Amino acid sequence: WPGHPKRKLSYEQLQRVLLDNPSSRRAEEWSRYYTAGPHLAGKNYSQAVWTKNKWEEFGIKSDIVSYDVYLNYPVDHRLALLEKEKHAHGASTWKVSYEASLTEDVLDEDPSTSLPNRVPTFHGYSASGNVTGPVVYVNYATYQDFEDLIRANVTLKGKIAIARYGGIFRGLKVKRAQELGMLGVILYSDPGDDGKNTEENGEKSYPDGPARHPSSVQRGSVQFLSVSPGDPTTPGYASKPGVPRQPVDTAIPSIPSVPISYLDALPILKALNGHGPKADDFNKYWTRNTGLQYKGVHYNVGPTPDDVVVNLYNEQDYVYTPLWNVIGVINGTIPDEVVVVGNHRDAWIAGGAGDPNSGSAVLNEAIRSFGEAIRQGWKPLRTIVFASWDGEEYGLVGSTEWVEDYMPWLKDATVAYVNTDVSVRGTYLSPNAAPLLDNVIHAVTAAIQSPNQTVPGQTVHDVWDKRIRTMGSGSDFTAFQDFAGIPCLDIGFTARSDEPVYQYHSNYDSFHWMEKFGDPGFVYHRTMAQVISLITAQLADLPIIPFRAADYAHALDRYVKQVEDKLDEALSPSTELTTAPLLNDEAYFELRSSTRKSFASLASSSSDSSVESFKISLKRLHEALRKLTARATELDKHADELKQKLEQHVPWWKWPAKLKLGSKIREVNTKYKYLERSFLFEEGLDGRPVFKHVVFAPGLWTGYAGAVFPGLMESIDAQDWTNAERWVDIIESRLKNAAHRL
Ligand code: GLU
Ligand code: CA
Ligand code: ZN
Ligand code: ZN
Repeated sequence: WPGHPKRKLSYEQLQRVLLDNPSSRRAEEWSRYYTAGPHLAGKNYSQAVWTKNKWEEFGIKSDIVSYDVYLNYPVDHRLALLEKEKHAHGASTWKVSYEASLTEDVLDEDPSTSLPNRVPTFHGYSASGNVTGPVVYVNYATYQDFEDLIRANVTLKGKIAIARYGGIFRGLKVKRAQELGMLGVILYSDPGDDGKNTEENGEKSYPDGPARHPSSVQRGSVQFLSVSPGDPTTPGYASKPGVPRQPVDTAIPSIPSVPISYLDALPILKALNGHGPKADDFNKYWTRNTGLQYKGVHYNVGPTPDDVVVNLYNEQDYVYTPLWNVIGVINGTIPDEVVVVGNHRDAWIAGGAGDPNSGSAVLNEAIRSFGEAIRQGWKPLRTIVFASWDGEEYGLVGSTEWVEDYMPWLKDATVAYVNTDVSVRGTYLSPNAAPLLDNVIHAVTAAIQSPNQTVPGQTVHDVWDKRIRTMGSGSDFTAFQDFAGIPCLDIGFTARSDEPVYQYHSNYDSFHWMEKFGDPGFVYHRTMAQVISLITAQLADLPIIPFRAADYAHALDRYVKQVEDKLDEALSPSTELTTAPLLNDEAYFELRSSTRKSFASLASSSSDSSVESFKISLKRLHEALRKLTARATELDKHADELKQKLEQHVPWWKWPAKLKLGSKIREVNTKYKYLERSFLFEEGLDGRPVFKHVVFAPGLWTGYAGAVFPGLMESIDAQDWTNAERWVDIIESRLKNAAHRL
């Protein structure tokens, strides 16, 4: 056990400081600052410097860490609907029947919408191109949406796709369209996906009411996130000046795409009326949340006839540019146990009050509170690293390059990574976490009052639905969790369908929206600052790392059952992909992202001996898990005993001074620290070698939502039983290794 000066603050005293210090007024002040300046990756140096200076003012040593990364800035674009007009004597000319505005309305009430540095509507990492062709409506552009179109003999090759946003990561929509030979992709926001607050339901649109402004556009990256996040030219290593650069074609699209508003989508969708099958003729997955019937859209699939085409022009300037992470450090007493806490700073838009600056304001308040504790003489047991990431929006670039840069040290020392991206967009707590951290989320939220005091005294825990999702992707935890095997959590308050519509990645994600609709009084900002602070404090300052190994073992057990359920479902001839129940959003998109061709064809191979032997192999995972569960339960019990001893026999200011007890605690903590690392597989997942975690990965065709045992699940979808067996072997050896190390 390393040196241990007398401690000046008990954990309870630290907790008091961290609960008392975050202030709504300050959070509002930080939000006002961040939402007024230039944000775009590689163009936000002044905000990086400001952030570093603020953190130092708060008493935290900080630095700017920069990388040279490849990314695009918009130059020009056009989207037009063209119709061929026939003249006498067989001559014909093309007439522009609609020229899309591709801009968002300036609103007098909302100063963000007229800032000089506001960003045109475009896609990060989109390809330049100028294409013209008939249009096909491809629903959400999930893998199964395209399968349905193929089965219905709708021509995709040579056509331009129009898809609604939602459910899966946008870049994967473009990826599949590209694979199927489509020319380009138009993505629009359908108000049917906005929940209860729509104009159709009589609600006023922003800024007069909670509905989406009809001109709002969702910008965003179209990189192939589930294959390779980070700088596409440096997969697996850091983008330092002078490093070799790889070709980018497997990481970003080669066909152009543009994001548009539903106002701009209307004429294109209407041009499809009467052409090809209708969404209603298809299956229920196609009629879910379609919201523009009242505007005259019939949701025909198309394609439009050859004399009704769309011209999509997209010009992007690709450059190598520096970007700037701000890294702050509070050195702990134990040098090789580290907790990292981060949020990204870059935004697509001039405002960004929700994404990411609710998180940036929250992080600043957490850091300011830790600064106050330091002023009172506190020093953490473990080192805390704070990060303000740049380039998240393009593809988690700042965080991924940093993780790649410091990989050996991070793998050796890091206990956990805590992320908050959009900290506040509504009032419902929404955590994702590695199972080791479930316990921390429960404990911390139970110690914090909810801003919702309809029942006096109720805590954040009381009003939470207690759901913790698995780690997928879409924010800066990805490289930590999936490349480095560090347990992560990601947390924020999200919006439910009855809350004001959060106009994600649009100019209307502004300070004005936040103040008026999202978080009047910034009370949820303050609460999230308390949550982030206490999570960090628990991880960095409790003598025994508050992980629960048994929670991980039990979760693994559930995941193996999910594999078995998937197999059973796949082998039952009665279940067809197009008739399975809809359930919630997550279930919907998980099902629709599956790559299996059809259940019927799978069922025909069920007699195959390889399926049988695979089923038997799965039993080996249960066996390995039994051992792991036993060891994990023992470790947790041992940790609890040590904690009790510590509390009974050692006064807190001497923690962890008793050397004998200290070394036992050290041993337990080391086991906890490395448990997640046991699940790394150096070769990586099939076709995506940078993803090394065998338990968690972003779903190949969901991106945002997490897949469990991705190697196994993908092999079942592909009916590749040999590979499925291979993955059982790989997973079994990790489980055994984990049990052994415990
Ligand atoms: N939060 C960003 C988005 O969803 C992440 C971009 C990415 O992961 O590539 O657009
Ligand atoms: Ca890289
Ligand atoms: Zn974000
Ligand atoms: Zn974002």
